[in-house]
This record gives sequence, C-alpha cells and structure tokens, in this order.
Amino acid sequence: MSQPHPYLGARFRLATHHHKGAIIAPVFRDVLDGVVEEVDCDTDALGTFDGEIPRRGSPYDTALAKAALIDPDGARGVLASEGSFSPHPQSPLITVNTELVILRDCVSTRVFVGSAFSTTPHILRRDVGEDDRDLTTWVARADLASHAVVVQAVNDDMTVVAKGVQSPEELTSAIDAARSLSPTGVARVTSDGRAHLNASRRDVIALAARDLADRLLRRCPSCHEPGWGTTGSLSGAPCRDCGSPTAQPWGQRWACPACGHDEDQIDQEQRADPARCSWCNP
Ligand SMILES: [Zn+2]
Ligand SMILES: [Zn+2]
Repeated sequence: MSQPHPYLGARFRLATHHHKGAIIAPVFRDVLDGVVEEVDCDTDALGTFDGEIPRRGSPYDTALAKAALIDPDGARGVLASEGSFSPHPQSPLITVNTELVILRDCVSTRVFVGSAFSTTPHILRRDVGEDDRDLTTWVARADLASHAVVVQAVNDDMTVVAKGVQSPEELTSAIDAARSLSPTGVARVTSDGRAHLNASRRDVIALAARDLADRLLRRCPSCHEPGWGTTGSLSGAPCRDCGSPTAQPWGQRWACPACGHDEDQIDQEQRADPARCSWCNP
C-alpha cells in the first residue's frame, strides 16, 4: 500500500474577490475530490484589471500575496489566482492571456503553480466619434452578455464613465456621457478584463486550475511526493531540412518540487521549420 495522498479529499481555501470559487471548486472536486471554500477578501489593493490600481509585482508574486491575505483556518492549503494580458513574445500583434492558479501548502509551505494561456482572448477596443454611431455589428461581436466593456472619455484623464457595461442601452448612454466629456467628442470602449465579467478569461482560469489539480495528484517517480509536473519546454528541435539543432521547442522538462528529481521528455518526432534554422536561414 502506498502512503495516503495529502491532497485527495482535502480542504482548501481560496482567496478571491469576485467569486472565482465557481470556476476553481468544480475542478478540484473532479480531480482531487477536494473541497474549495471561497474566502472573499479585497484583493483589489494588489492591482485591478480595469487598470484603476496598477499591479506592482509579477503575476506570481501577486497570487502569493493574495494567498497570504486569508486565514488558512486549518485547511491543507490556500489557493489564489492571477492573470495577465501581454503581447505574444514572437508576434507582438497577438495578445496572450496567461492565468496562474497557485496552491500554498499550509503544512509543507511548498508552493505549486498551475498555468494556462490563450492566444485568442476576448479583448476589444473601439473609439467612437461623431459620425460613428452604428455600433450594431460591433456590439454583436463584443458579446456583451458574457463579456462586459469599460467606457472612457478620450481626454487628458481618460475619465472612466462606466465599467462592467453589459447591455446595449447602457452602452449607448455611457458613450453619450463619455463623448460629452471629451474635447474631441470621442468615447473609448474596451473589454472589461475582470474575470467575473469576461467568460473567455474564466475558461482559461479553469484550465490553469486543472493544470494545478493534475500536478497535485501526480507523485514524483523518485520520492513519491505529490507535485510532479512540467517546469518548461526544452529547446533543440532538429531542423527538418538539415538536422541541425535549433532554438525551437523539442520536449518538456518534468521536475519534483520536493526532492529536485527531474526528467526530460523529448518529442523524437518534432522537427523545426528551416526558417528558424541558423544554417538554412542565417
Ligand atoms: Zn521527488
Ligand atoms: Zn537547417
């Protein structure tokens, strides 16, 4: 018989402001038969997605700071999540939404990280001026019912007139109000990135929670502690034409956070595009 698994059937507490428990709890129940208690706390002081309070640390640091905000109350671990939108490192015109869900184990004090990303986040932006009142097509694409928007006046302060806007009527009146505050008569409408108002972001958070729960479930093949998972991709995929090693991904490194044991899993079939090869395309 193997030793009992510390996370199976365990109780966790989630530090959240806007009910991310509805996203994360079902995943932990399915994978670990775990119970996630949502603890409402004001995480806004650590930065907000409407841009009103800038975030100071990295998303990982911010998630750790959120986890430290709540009383563990005897739970096995404290969960927190944090996301970001940033330009794709290779294709700056593409926006990447990255979500982290972390667990700080209250017994071992070890921190485990689950992550997921999307290169198709629902982030729209449109400036509405005087002869640009036909918003019908744009509003249909904006999918207001599941993705709210923020309306600002284009002025020196970029005055926020309304946030969390989810109806066409509310949008029209907010645009009118914003235009009246703008010297050029222009209102800016952008997607509201806050998770409870952005269904696409919630999907990515659920994938990050799944990545974390799967990681917590897997045991290290060497020491049998839970938390065995990937720590990053390995470069070196051979060029399809000449076979030279390139900087393109070739597999994954798996590691144990408890004993440090690691293993490289190389994808032997993987070949790199010759356009990325320093011999074929110097
Ligand atoms: Zn280990
Ligand atoms: Zn080559």
